[in-house]
Amino acid sequence: MLLNQSKLNEIWKTVLINIKNKNIFEDSIFKTYINDSKLIDINFDNIATIEVPWELHKNFFNNYLSEFEAEISNLLDVDINLKIIVSGSEELTSINYNNTTQLTKDTINEIFKTANHISKFYTFENFIQGSSNEKPYAAAYGSAISNEPNFYNPIFIYGNSGLGKTHLLHAICNYLQDNRSEVTFLYIDGNDLIAELINATKNRTVNKIIEQLSHVNYLLIDDIQHLAKTNDTQEVFFNLYNKIIDNNGQIILTSDVYPAELKSMNNRLISRFTSGLSVCIDPPEFSTAVSILNKKISLSKQKLNITDEAITYIAQNYSNDVRQLEGAFNDILFNSILFKADIIDLEFVKQALKEKPKKVVKLDNKGLTPKIIKREVCNYYNITINQIESKSRTLNISNPRKIAIYLCRELLNMPYEKIGKEFGNRDHSTIMSNYNNFVKLMNENSEYKQTIENLKEILNS
Ligand code: ADP
Ligand code: MG
Repeated sequence: MLLNQSKLNEIWKTVLINIKNKNIFEDSIFKTYINDSKLIDINFDNIATIEVPWELHKNFFNNYLSEFEAEISNLLDVDINLKIIVSGSEELTSINYNNTTQLTKDTINEIFKTANHISKFYTFENFIQGSSNEKPYAAAYGSAISNEPNFYNPIFIYGNSGLGKTHLLHAICNYLQDNRSEVTFLYIDGNDLIAELINATKNRTVNKIIEQLSHVNYLLIDDIQHLAKTNDTQEVFFNLYNKIIDNNGQIILTSDVYPAELKSMNNRLISRFTSGLSVCIDPPEFSTAVSILNKKISLSKQKLNITDEAITYIAQNYSNDVRQLEGAFNDILFNSILFKADIIDLEFVKQALKEKPKKVVKLDNKGLTPKIIKREVCNYYNITINQIESKSRTLNISNPRKIAIYLCRELLNMPYEKIGKEFGNRDHSTIMSNYNNFVKLMNENSEYKQTIENLKEILNS
């Protein structure tokens, strides 16, 4: 339960009136011992804290705890335990707070030590756009420049790791810092958020924190999927979330999966997450991967003389994940310094990357299309194109469909959305879950791995 002080006052007033009406205590006792008590907190363990002026009062209350507990439990319809503390005692300082605290950047950093570490490099300018990421880019940029509280809320960016989700969140923060300094924001990673909330619960500062943070203009949480791990923090977060939305704060979340696929996440949260704008981020298509590499080259302090052929090779082989693409680039950079290379050509690149596993199996992609993949998979399984594109869920159709989807993704680097168009206009989240599902199947069953190898060979020939 998270209640502000006026609500708490109201509750306590009612409890005291009810107690008074029961005539358990004489008027003089009431005046001396009870009247000056104050309800100051009800925490998640349903412990209500009563503040009293002196030790004397505390002793009195402790003698009659069950009467007061029965009354407040009855009123709130939950079992409440009372804790009595004396004004000015140390116990109190961790609970008592000032509701009207102005939320500033310093306050945010004080509240959450792990918040707001933003990389200067992750800006909108340094983010290369392509059809794989133009929607999340537009959503992120739109939210950063918008003064309107009614911009999509929340914005939920999802996709596999290494595709620029964190970069976009940092870009929003950098933009706000540089252009809208009056605006407050809280950027925090999902894991850090859990740790902070657990800590706050232990220290009994949760109410205070929620009250203060509820005034933040932007709440950005990276990898919100981690929150699914703990029930209690979901509850706390739910409160914070609602308060921020009520105060017209903008919420932006990232995750590795679509909201509905957040296993163990409370349904109330999932439905909140889907109520705004959900956008998928996909692996960069070839041309975007090339642009990302060129950007890296231009930003590099080292002057690099690299051939187009070499860039093409890196983009073709490592673009399933931009982090891998960067890793490949860094290896080449390192090698070029080590061997004092004047020119970085295809041979040099192949040599530098020879031990680096590739995610994408390189094919002569020029001739390969989704149609060919569908046709070959259909031939392999003896089903028709109509069947593979249909809504049928029988295994002899749905498994080949998953395989074809997997191949479109792996061999052609196609965004989920585009793949969806090839398979009976399915939406990107369905395709994404088909893809992930097949990857899982393949890891569990080596026969599928063999099938993929066979099909790749057919497609390659
Ligand atoms: P995610 O959070 O989705 O796992 P990151 O945002 O950490 O991915 O991105 C991984 C790396 O790839 C970062 O260094 C990021 O700057 C870079 N990156 C990803 N997408 C792009 C892009 N479109 N343009 C430039 N750099 C990118
Ligand atoms: Mg990330």
